[in-house]
Amino acid sequence: MDCLFCKIVSGDIPSKKIYEDDLIYVFEDIAPTAPIHYLLIPKEHIVSAASINENNSKVIAHIFEIIAQLAEEKGMEEGFRVVNNCGESGGQTVMHLHFHLLSGRQLNWPAG
Ligand code: AMP
Ligand code: ZN
Repeated sequence: MDCLFCKIVSGDIPSKKIYEDDLIYVFEDIAPTAPIHYLLIPKEHIVSAASINENNSKVIAHIFEIIAQLAEEKGMEEGFRVVNNCGESGGQTVMHLHFHLLSGRQLNWPAG
């Protein structure tokens, strides 16, 4: 499949791996906007948050369990932000579901 993040999961495109298990892969964003900027993705190709349903939603709970684990391991005790961009107007540029995990600086709100 011609999907950038599927190719990162398979190793065809290199990435800086932070964490991996049977269900998910976590790696550094290539253009970080904070000192910590990870992307958490299901290994299964899910297009976007608009495609989550009762058959594939288990991985979403798992992603948030690993976010809490990484927050503890990687020193995010002062806080962090999880972002999902969905669809064109939502700012999604890679059509494989991913969550941005941002930390290490004061993050402003509301975001653009
Ligand atoms: P989004 O705009 O929410 O779809 O986020 C896509 C993210 O993927 C952006 O933050 C990009 O910097 C990031 N990205 C694009 N290509 C790569 C890559 N090869 N390795 C790591 N991150 C990437
Ligand atoms: Zn994919």
